[in-house]
Amino acid sequence: MPRIALFPGSFDPVTIGHVDIVKRSVSLFDKIIIGVGTNSTKQTMFSMEQRLEWLKNTFADIPNVEVNAYNGLTVDCCRKFNAQYILRGLRTSTDFQFEKAIAQMNQLLESKIETIFILSSPQYAPVSSTIVRDIIRHGGNVKQFLPEAVKPLG
Ligand code: ADP
Repeated sequence: MPRIALFPGSFDPVTIGHVDIVKRSVSLFDKIIIGVGTNSTKQTMFSMEQRLEWLKNTFADIPNVEVNAYNGLTVDCCRKFNAQYILRGLRTSTDFQFEKAIAQMNQLLESKIETIFILSSPQYAPVSSTIVRDIIRHGGNVKQFLPEAVKPLG
């Protein structure tokens, strides 16, 4: 059975931190599906179409990375794509606390799905889409935090 991982998130926008996690994990799985979730409690800065396009362009040269939008529960998205793993990045202990509860709840919902955590590379630990959006709102330059495909935004 191919090892398929779902990497879920908002990717609003995709940053070099996300790219680092995908590139470092790609050899662990046969396929990584980047799942761009629609979160009803989060108002995004960029449209779903725009976020998908940036992700597709960013990972165009990695054949076993796919990009898809999804609605609803992450475990349901895993079932839909036959993903046995959920991939998440960890930057800080705050990420850990938050991610731990979600991973454990997901395990109660679907015991066959394992969440795999990859620690952020030290140089990317402070990079977050939230801070990138704040810098954009205040007219700052975010180029250094974005992959090539998103650079026009910076
Ligand atoms: P969410 O909307 O669920 O917070 P994000 O789009 O912000 O999702 O991020 C998706 C995943 O990428 C999360 O697991 C997050 O921890 C991880 N991530 C984001 N930025 C970084 C980074 N700089 N280093 C490592 N992991 C990161």
